[in-house]
Amino acid sequence: MNDAVDFSGKAALVTGSSGGIGAGIVTALGRLGARCVVNYLEDAEGRNQAAAERVASALPGARVVQCDVGDAEQVRVRMEQIKTDFGGLDILVNNAGILQDRTIRKMTLKEWESVLRVNLTGAFNCIQHAIPILRSGGRIVNLSSVSGQLGLFGQANYASSKAGLIALTKVAARELAKQQITVNAVAPGFIDTEMTRSMPEAVTQQFLTQIPLGRIGQVEDVVSAVLFLCSPLARYITGQVIHVNGGFYM
Ligand code: NAD
Repeated sequence: MNDAVDFSGKAALVTGSSGGIGAGIVTALGRLGARCVVNYLEDAEGRNQAAAERVASALPGARVVQCDVGDAEQVRVRMEQIKTDFGGLDILVNNAGILQDRTIRKMTLKEWESVLRVNLTGAFNCIQHAIPILRSGGRIVNLSSVSGQLGLFGQANYASSKAGLIALTKVAARELAKQQITVNAVAPGFIDTEMTRSMPEAVTQQFLTQIPLGRIGQVEDVVSAVLFLCSPLARYITGQVIHVNGGFYM
């Protein structure tokens, strides 16, 4: 079991890994031996860059890379750089994601498109430009969401992007199987991160009553599922969705 989760010699890219679940995933992969690329999105105050550098500083040989996953050209250039630096890629985790909740009645086209652009087109861009550098036996894990299955209120853009990611996962699984590259999705429920801390307390409490395991998920709960899918233990699993939600959706 310990050998199965040894990622020594593997190169891993986790998008949106300056904080939250992404930081948890990249840190776990790095501690288990992977050479990691910590990706952040530039912001005016430079907060994401500083956070990404903190994450990378704990991981031997890690690189910090600015890239907006919604920008196909930036993604293409960064993948070429990874090829130059690491010789190729073994693990791609499409984690970058945003929320802009509003009812359909009030949602602007801009709000609809910007969420689709990051959550769905971003993953497409990364998969497309990773293909030329992914080595045989590689792994792709896409972060979907329970909302992609349930269609949560006020999340037309977010839920559609996360449902789309499940379809993208299955198509990519079929298309990359010949190279023994597996493609799977992890669909978290309600996880304790910045993203969910911004929700009103009453909404959080309402969710809690619907989670059979009786608690909000921790980042480590999601990290464990991703590590499993990236490991040789999951070599015969592809095109699947693992739900990490305390039973909220089953
Ligand atoms: P988070 O907001 O803490 O992290 C998202 C990261 O994506 C941030 O670091 C952000 O800077 C980055 N990002 C945003 N736009 C980007 C872009 N264009 N290019 C590159 N990076 C970009 O959120 P989180 O809770 O850690 O969520 C991580 C993933 O898990 C997301 O895809 C989210 O939809 C999914 N998820 C989270 C929950 C939850 O309860 N927290 C539940 C289900 C799914």
